[in-house]
Amino acid sequence: MDFSTSKAILEYCNDNKIDITEQKANQFEVLSDMLCDFNAHTNVTALKTKKDIAIKHFVDSIAVLKYDLIKKNAFVIDIGCGAGFPGLPIKMLRDDIHITFVDSTAKKLKFTSLVAEQFGLENVKVCPNRAEELVNMGNREVYDVAVSRAVASLPVLLELVLPYVKPSGIFCAYKSSIEADRNNKESELSKSMNALKKLGAKVECVLDANLPDIDDVTQKHCIIVIKKTGKTPAGFPRRYAAIVKNPL
Ligand code: SAH
Repeated sequence: MDFSTSKAILEYCNDNKIDITEQKANQFEVLSDMLCDFNAHTNVTALKTKKDIAIKHFVDSIAVLKYDLIKKNAFVIDIGCGAGFPGLPIKMLRDDIHITFVDSTAKKLKFTSLVAEQFGLENVKVCPNRAEELVNMGNREVYDVAVSRAVASLPVLLELVLPYVKPSGIFCAYKSSIEADRNNKESELSKSMNALKKLGAKVECVLDANLPDIDDVTQKHCIIVIKKTGKTPAGFPRRYAAIVKNPL
């Protein structure tokens, strides 16, 4: 039987008490086709099957909505969004939020613009910039929530992202369970304690995305919720080469 994207989205939302309508679920069916069409000329995803796209892109992205983390009308920023993940599926289910998409590769952002137009999404901004530069163009500590997936290791990512987040705001870092394991000294999370201290933040919690299995393979994805506890010093972020060469 053919895989149904809308059914998979509806099922996940119903199981996890995420608000959705049938009409919205059907939009994900359209989104999947749009992504495949776009990918035929501009490489934005390595995922090829409808099932992989539905679970690893769409369901993974909206997992954050099963926790009450994004308040009504929040200002949200997605750093290194590529074709718009996780921010785009989040926005599709949350009309109320204002969302800014950031990626240094302008052609990838075209997909997000296309989808926003297709579905009439409002309060969507796209910024073809490097994260470490855009922050000093009026974006410092103005966002309630930042999200980011598959961009850099956590110590590097924290320096790129936390300067955007308001004191008391949060950063939802999408990571594998292995990298989010506090009991493993080698995990990205364990290696981020100094960065958190320097940037004015702490780990609030680690949440399980509870993704459905794909062909009996468990998908172990987590959302590390980081809370800003104070202001990030003005010297951060450093230049990209310095961040990567010498992570905090
Ligand atoms: N978040 C998307 C894309 C991940 S690929 C997803 O999960 O599918 C990583 C993306 O981060 C790439 O599109 C790359 O262009 C972008 N990126 C990496 N470093 C960046 C930086 N310093 N500033 C802005 N974008 C960056």
